[in-house]
Amino acid sequence: MTTNVGDASSGTHALNDAAAREVRQRLEEERRTRAAQLTALEQAVERSPLEQVEASDYTRLENLRQSLVEIDDALRRLREGAYGRCEGCGQAIPAGRLEILPYARFCVRCQGRGARGDR
Ligand SMILES: [Zn+2]
Repeated sequence: MTTNVGDASSGTHALNDAAAREVRQRLEEERRTRAAQLTALEQAVERSPLEQVEASDYTRLENLRQSLVEIDDALRRLREGAYGRCEGCGQAIPAGRLEILPYARFCVRCQGRGARGDR
């Protein structure tokens, strides 16, 4: 990610348009992947006799649903121009962290303090 923002007049948003578009594409692709995994797993669980469904299957379903919620939330923040800001301390989340976790809601420090969105 480049640090020299050319247009200083639109400095209210954390990301410039090109970067925001790139993030949105990543999030939408991630969303498609998770949604497909969720559908496949839901169908597998539905087809299995109840006693053969593992507790870990339910955990995975829950995790996938949770990530879809988080991805949708990140897309909403992106539209509102709030993307990339920590919900805990209001600081910008480092680009390197967003690279790894594009729907991160917290910086590493706040995440470590237990403000976790996942379980
Ligand atoms: Zn923070």
